[in-house]
Amino acid sequence: MTTAAALVGLAVGSFLNVCIQRWPRGESVLLPRSRCPRCGDPIAWHDNIPLLSFAVLRARCRSCRAAIPIRYPLVELATALLFATAAARFGLGLAGAKVALFGGMCVVLFWTDLERLVLPDQVTLGGLGAGIALSTVVPVPPGLALLVLGVPRWHLPAWSASVLESCLTAIVLGGLLYAIGEAYYRLRGIEGLGFGDVKFAAMIGAFLGSSEAFLVLLAACLLGTAAGAGLLVAGQGGRHTPLPFGTFLAGAAALAPFCADPILNWYWEYMLR
Ligand SMILES: [Zn+2]
Repeated sequence: MTTAAALVGLAVGSFLNVCIQRWPRGESVLLPRSRCPRCGDPIAWHDNIPLLSFAVLRARCRSCRAAIPIRYPLVELATALLFATAAARFGLGLAGAKVALFGGMCVVLFWTDLERLVLPDQVTLGGLGAGIALSTVVPVPPGLALLVLGVPRWHLPAWSASVLESCLTAIVLGGLLYAIGEAYYRLRGIEGLGFGDVKFAAMIGAFLGSSEAFLVLLAACLLGTAAGAGLLVAGQGGRHTPLPFGTFLAGAAALAPFCADPILNWYWEYMLR
């Protein structure tokens, strides 16, 4: 079962590479067929097999020997691992599919922001819609929704609390990133966060709900600060070097469904002790 999910993940990862390559450039992901960006030669199906072709071709185009970026096998491998882990942990039903879909979208956003500082609307806005829609069938653990529903003690069906949590967290997390971006811009006079980050944060909130989503935001801030400090120490770029905050968000978000529970449990135990 896990092997089957990994194989599906490899194939999906191969398609995600096309999305990462084309969406930030405003190109269609369906047509034309894959070509070498240097010599323009179409890539034959037998040179387009996930992981294997990269190894057989030794990371070079068959016609012109142009280097194939390491991103191609890394995306395929990461997607396969996410799909296999999602299947093992959450099963082959809707819950597993939701985690796999979310992971795949995070893989795309991780690379488009890293390579071109772009978070395509196809993924962020599409993901926001998908996250809210899926909250009707795969419950989002209530956090913010309890604050709203808890006081008047309304008796609503379980799915409506899940949808409310999904929508509320999307608004709050997106709004929070917008506020942070505005404050940063007013203080420093340069844009630290783009509107793409706001939409991505809303998508994360819609999929994960408030407790996991806030943990992701915290982890991304820590990762971003560490990376920024690391670059300064290494003498690579200064304080104005733009950092791909979406890449840190994506890395933390893709792992959240697997790692957040123990961290949150530890936190609540620590707080309530
Ligand atoms: Zn070529």
